[in-house]
Amino acid sequence: MSTRATIAPTRATMRSTRSVPAVGRVQSSAKASMGAKVQMMSARKAMGERVQMKARSQQTARATRFVVTAAKNTIIAGAPASGKGTQCEGIVENFGLTHISTGDMLRAAVKAGTDAGKAAKEFMDAGKLVPDEVIIAMVKDRLGEEDCKTKGWLLDGFPRTGAQADALVEIGVSPDVVLLLNVPDEELIKRVVGRRSDPETGKIYHVDYFPAPAGEVADRCIQRSDDTEEACRSRLGYYYENLEALKNAYSDKMVSIDGNQDKALVGELIAKAMV
Ligand code: ADP
Repeated sequence: MSTRATIAPTRATMRSTRSVPAVGRVQSSAKASMGAKVQMMSARKAMGERVQMKARSQQTARATRFVVTAAKNTIIAGAPASGKGTQCEGIVENFGLTHISTGDMLRAAVKAGTDAGKAAKEFMDAGKLVPDEVIIAMVKDRLGEEDCKTKGWLLDGFPRTGAQADALVEIGVSPDVVLLLNVPDEELIKRVVGRRSDPETGKIYHVDYFPAPAGEVADRCIQRSDDTEEACRSRLGYYYENLEALKNAYSDKMVSIDGNQDKALVGELIAKAMV
C-alpha cells in the first residue's frame, strides 16, 4: 500500500482539521466551516482516515500541516453501465487516487487517431473487447507514470480478462482492493441506452434517472457510439465470459457490492470497503 502526504490545517485548528471534506485536499483553517466540519466528521468516520499531525512553529501553526493517509490501489469492476464511472468520481474525490479508465483512454486514443486508437475503434463500436496486447501496453505505460506512484491508482475497466490480470502480476502490480459492482442485466440495458455524457466535464447523465441540467449542458451532451442495446448485450456477453477469471484472480481481495441502488448508498459501501 502506498502512502501520500497531503496538507491540512495545523494543531491550532486540529478540530477543524477533522472537517476536511476529502482526503488529500489543501484547506486553510479559515475555510473549515461548521457545516463542512459536521459533514466531514461523518465522512472521515466512514473512511477511517489515518491522520498524523506534524508540529510546526507558532506562526506556521495556523497555516499548514501534513496529513498522511493510506491510499489504496483499487480496481473497480462491473458490467457496462454498472456505475463504475460514476462511483470513480466519488472515489477520486474522497481518496485522491489517480483514475485510470481504459474506456476513456481508448476513446481519447480513437479521437487522437493514434495507432492504438485505430486498432481499437472497430472493436469498441461493435461492443467487443479490444485485443489484450493493445490495452495491456497502454495500461502498463500509464501505471508507470509518476502520479500513479505518488497518489496510488484506481483502475476502472481493467483488467477485463484473465490475460490482463496476468499482465498485472507480471509487472508486479497488485491491488489492495477489488470492487465488483453487481447490477441485473435488464437494468444495465436501460442505463446504457439512456446514458449521456458531457464532453466538457466528462460527467455522466441519464435521460430519465439523472438528466443533465437543461440548456447549455444538456445541449452539448452526447451519446457514446457503443451505447446501443445491441452493443451493450455484446459487451455483457464478454463480461460474463471473463468474470470467473477475474473472481479467481482476486478471490482474496474482491468485495461484491450491490450496484442496483441509490448511487449515494453504493458510494457509502465503496468507502467502507476501501478502508
Ligand atoms: P463499458 O464498461 O460500458 O463497456 P468502457 O468505457 O469501460 O465502457 O469501455 C468501452 C469499450 O472500450 C469496451 O466496450 C471495450 O471495447 C473497450 N475496453 C475498455 N477497457 C477494456 C479492456 N480492459 N479490455 C478490452 N477492451 C476494453
